[in-house]
Amino acid sequence: MNSSDKLQRSLLMRLAWRQTLLRLLLFFTLATAVGIATRQLTLTLLIATALVAMRGYWRLYRVSRFLDWRTQLKTVHGQGLWAALETLIHRRQTETRTRNQRLARLLHAYRQAASAMPDGALIVSRRERRILWFNKSARRLLGLQYPHSLNTKLLEALTDPEVALWLDQARTDEPLADLASPADSAVRLSLQLLPYSSEEWLVIVRDVTRLTRLEQVRRDFVANVSHELRTPLTVVHGYLDMMEPEENPEWAPMVSEMRKQSQRMAQLVEDLLMLSRLEAQQQLSEEVVAMAPLLITLRREAEALSQGRHRIVVDDSAQCDLFGAAKELHSAFSNLVSNAVRYTPTDGRVTLRFIRNADGGVTLAVQDSGYGIPQQHLPRITERFYRVSTSRSRESGGTGLGLSIVKHVLSLHQGRLEIESEVGRGSTFACVFGPERVRNR
Ligand code: ADP
Repeated sequence: MNSSDKLQRSLLMRLAWRQTLLRLLLFFTLATAVGIATRQLTLTLLIATALVAMRGYWRLYRVSRFLDWRTQLKTVHGQGLWAALETLIHRRQTETRTRNQRLARLLHAYRQAASAMPDGALIVSRRERRILWFNKSARRLLGLQYPHSLNTKLLEALTDPEVALWLDQARTDEPLADLASPADSAVRLSLQLLPYSSEEWLVIVRDVTRLTRLEQVRRDFVANVSHELRTPLTVVHGYLDMMEPEENPEWAPMVSEMRKQSQRMAQLVEDLLMLSRLEAQQQLSEEVVAMAPLLITLRREAEALSQGRHRIVVDDSAQCDLFGAAKELHSAFSNLVSNAVRYTPTDGRVTLRFIRNADGGVTLAVQDSGYGIPQQHLPRITERFYRVSTSRSRESGGTGLGLSIVKHVLSLHQGRLEIESEVGRGSTFACVFGPERVRNR
């Protein structure tokens, strides 16, 4: 209500009071005159009071009926206080009605817009995971039926155990990708969870069939190329090994360079194949991985690579084992150790720490006192072939795929990679695992 409206209303009420008091005064003066004239003053005044009271009650009844929101006040009778009251109620009713109509129109427009969306949208209650609302695309993508599916549990429509886990963990940070549609198993879906209120989630369902197919084509291509390169490389490698530099000393530097490059290519192919394998696998074959011997092996690998140029320290304070894929975990940790040695100058220090976390999980952290990584590179460091310094990576025998492998292995173990680094002071790469991965020795 604006200020001129307020002023108008208070003026109306003041005028109404004045009119009412004036009328009452006139009425009772008239009644007194009639009473004196008829010599029945008491009776006349009594009748006059009763008439005033009756009229008051009748207007009160009318107003109370109009206060019921269903009855629209159409006309305002007379003048005075009651008429002013009815005018105010009439105005309030009209305002509320207009506001409700506007809101209903807006809601209708929102619903139509949501229905026209190519992505499925559902509102799901957080506590019971019941479907409170869904649009047309959600019907098509998830095979929901209106109104039958309303108020049913989301997990009745999506029976995949992965969805249950995803909802339990409330993964609002990461969409659940590549899920078969319950309506058509050839359609692949991605689900995204948006916490838009404290009571409900908005679940966005996207058809990612085309994207998934393209991704599969890319994966197959990389895997096939790497596989095809393996045999010719083994042959080249074999012949190079047979060439004795002593027989042709002038060729010695060339042969040595060729061997180095062919080894690099072989490593590249092996890393690409490993990545393809990791990408293709949804589930690894898992077992209890004894960490004490693994830490000894990692230390040996670091020492072999360092050739005595660094101080290698191992701290195993977690005193437990990990449940996971032994070969893949070894490969991931080994990549981090190799990076720490390769990107730390002579006389530097490399520390391997296996520690317990506050939540009952464990962390394997590889810390070095090396070159460090500028902050702007950190968000992209785990991408394939992303290098901070290409020359330094090549010189040290890197393929640019090590950290991608680490990230993939950790995600297959529901773990995460945390990186801290400062230029000139060193870096820490920490593999964090949840309590479900810990096995006591
Ligand atoms: P690469 O085979 O080139 O080492 P990675 O995927 O293992 O490939 O690492 C990507 C890039 O991250 C490296 O090229 C390097 O620039 C940087 N990097 C990785 N680990 C370290 C580290 N411990 N210290 C400094 N830079 C690092």
